[in-house]
Amino acid sequence: MATPLAPEADWVRVRVSGKINLALRVGAVRPSGYHPLSTVFQSVSLFDEVAVRWAEPGRFPVTVVGDQAGLVPTDGSNLAVKAAKLLADEYGPHRFGAELVIRKTIPVAGGMAGGSADAAGALLACSVLWDLDVSPDELRELGARLGADVPFQLMGGTALGTGRGDELVPVLSRGSYHWVLALSADELSTPAVFGRFDELNPDAPDELAMPNEVMNALVSGDAGALGAVLVNDLAPAAQSLRPELVRVLEFGREAGALGAIVSGAGPTCAFLAPNEAAAVDLSVRLSSEGMCRAVRRVTGPVPGARLITT
Ligand code: ATP
Repeated sequence: MATPLAPEADWVRVRVSGKINLALRVGAVRPSGYHPLSTVFQSVSLFDEVAVRWAEPGRFPVTVVGDQAGLVPTDGSNLAVKAAKLLADEYGPHRFGAELVIRKTIPVAGGMAGGSADAAGALLACSVLWDLDVSPDELRELGARLGADVPFQLMGGTALGTGRGDELVPVLSRGSYHWVLALSADELSTPAVFGRFDELNPDAPDELAMPNEVMNALVSGDAGALGAVLVNDLAPAAQSLRPELVRVLEFGREAGALGAIVSGAGPTCAFLAPNEAAAVDLSVRLSSEGMCRAVRRVTGPVPGARLITT
């Protein structure tokens, strides 16, 4: 096989970002099994790469390299493969195939929608590879069929998500925020966290309020104001499955974070720092404490799925 991700003319490469939820309000589970969400997503500068090139029609082999590659399936259950197949099925079932290479940096099962990011990357990359006449709206619609986070991972930036989190409106966000991420050694299953949420919240609401405090703070561009209003209804459930998260969040707050939050369904924890120097300081202190697998400094918002031109 050719060197993965080499800048060869026959590879189309896309960069996709991880996300954190600045607000994540969760309602009572619907008979369909979905939980209604009211959430504010922000893309942060932790990137996977998805590279694709032509393969025989109907063939979608995938190689995964990088952080935690061994945790990612390489069969038809890989979300990027599912995305490529879905696009092929829609636009030419007997004409298209693709070889995929995914370079992981976004933590696997870490609450940062890495699999959804790879699906978004595969949709964009294959649409370019196969030279399809497909609009961003059509890609988002296909993405929503693969997973609720895929439309946001195509779009990126900062957005309000309602419904299953896939009905999106961009949110005005001033400035750039400095985050420190504490990556966990263990994965946390999103369905398990939602299951625990149901047990802990038998009276969860049917209707969810808009996360106006977070949107107002983003308009002001005031990191202190944002840090004070970060909210995640899944945090108690994630903490009850991973009690050590309580200590990680507490340590970050005491070490000067303006706000500390479990990212999505966890177990990644995100700390908002007042500036870059404070983020460096916080990341050093978190690393030396040895409470997590790795610490990453990132900024947000950043764009969603984008072609890499060489
Ligand atoms: P969710 O989007 O469900 O909240 P998450 O962000 O916490 O999940 P992901 O990294 O998307 O976690 O992985 C969830 C599961 O999806 C993993 O355990 C893995 O088995 C599977 N998976 C399938 N395809 C991928 C992929 N391309 N990258 C990562 N995980 C994948």
